[in-house]
Amino acid sequence: MNPLEMVQSQIKSALEKMDLDPIVYHLLKEPKRFYEYTFPVRMDDGSIKIFKGFRSQHNDALGPNKGGLRFHQDVTADEVKALSAWMTFKCSVVGLPYGGGKGGVVVDPRDLSRRELEKVSRGWMRAFHNEIGQFKDIPAPDVNTNPQVMAWMIDEANTITSKNQGGHLTGKPVELGGSLGRTEATGYGVSFMVRKAAEKINLNLKGSTTVVQGFGNVGSYAAELLQSWGSKVIAVSDVYGSIYKEDGIDIPALMEFVAKGNKVSDFPGVEVKDRDAVFTTKCDIFLPCALENSITKENAHVIDCKIISEGANGPTTPEADKILLDNGIFVIPDVLANAGGVTVSYFEWSQNLYGHYWSKEMVLEEEEQIMVRAFDEIVNLMEKENIKDMRQAAFMHSIKKIASVMKLRGWY
Ligand code: NAD
Repeated sequence: MNPLEMVQSQIKSALEKMDLDPIVYHLLKEPKRFYEYTFPVRMDDGSIKIFKGFRSQHNDALGPNKGGLRFHQDVTADEVKALSAWMTFKCSVVGLPYGGGKGGVVVDPRDLSRRELEKVSRGWMRAFHNEIGQFKDIPAPDVNTNPQVMAWMIDEANTITSKNQGGHLTGKPVELGGSLGRTEATGYGVSFMVRKAAEKINLNLKGSTTVVQGFGNVGSYAAELLQSWGSKVIAVSDVYGSIYKEDGIDIPALMEFVAKGNKVSDFPGVEVKDRDAVFTTKCDIFLPCALENSITKENAHVIDCKIISEGANGPTTPEADKILLDNGIFVIPDVLANAGGVTVSYFEWSQNLYGHYWSKEMVLEEEEQIMVRAFDEIVNLMEKENIKDMRQAAFMHSIKKIASVMKLRGWY
């Protein structure tokens, strides 16, 4: 499904339950600003290649736009627009003073040398620097981008502006003003939300089983924390394939193995299966941590679990949502489940602005507090308004704040 249509349908579903001016839908259904630029890069063999980049600024009523940058061969304008909208709702869900941004470059980074990757990163910043800024729009890592990419980008931005402004980007290496705990933040947040849902449905995490689709930054840290609480991570996938082990995969060892550039399916001592076998593996907790459109009407009915915590953005289509709801699965929506990343990015930005740095313990404690508060607020709304679908309630909770600020600003 087109991700922009997906988010539009989620907005509509929330608005059905709210008594708001219909113009609110039109203010939220598309980004306020969208930029598409091309930029040239000289490749290692001396040839010039033209890359296409995007930046979408969905809605800045609550504060500057904030959101990741994705390097992927399948990036499209509509995907970036949708991802920026999810960022708006996510920031509002957890009460951050940000609007939603997102960007991308159409590139398969596996085709680039390290030097070419640096040039593409710097090229994106040169093309987009007028639209970016610490009080305007603050990028961060997303799929296939990492602290090193952020370091090259901030260096380029600092050079162009002649200002050493750390708050220009988040997800930076710690030595360059990054926050302790940012690397773990999104995955740990996914698991903090699993723990809350487990309490709600009386599921004991000790001895429970977990399956993870996508073993990148988000999936790996979510799995690590759940395993440390006693859950057995029985199946894990990446883009190449999946692995299974009935008595649990050693997650720290798998993380070390993957960090060396290995595929999940080459990990020793496990059963190798095809990539999508994770969907048919019965478990208590299922974590979709890859990309959009993973759980669709074609596979939703085969998922046999009690809790889904969405590490990825937009992993579940609206049709699939209905099936999961009918099957009694507790789905923690992306705008809440993976909000830990932007929450700690906000801490990073604040630390950069006031030049005082926090301990990792403090970062993770504050992250958990913010997410738990949002979880409780949404559950209260569900109980008060008799809403079964947590995504619908999360969007309502979020849109209520954005609509009220847009009204105060005189946008409608
Ligand atoms: P990443 O590049 O570190 O990891 C992505 C993982 O998914 C890789 O292991 C890749 O092999 C795997 N993958 C891709 N397609 C797959 C498929 N079809 N089946 C199985 N595995 C597949 O990216 P990430 O930062 O972990 O981001 C993952 C998701 O989480 C994205 O949707 C992203 O937007 C979202 N997210 C990330 C952050 C963050 O802080 N990194 C924050 C919020 C949301």
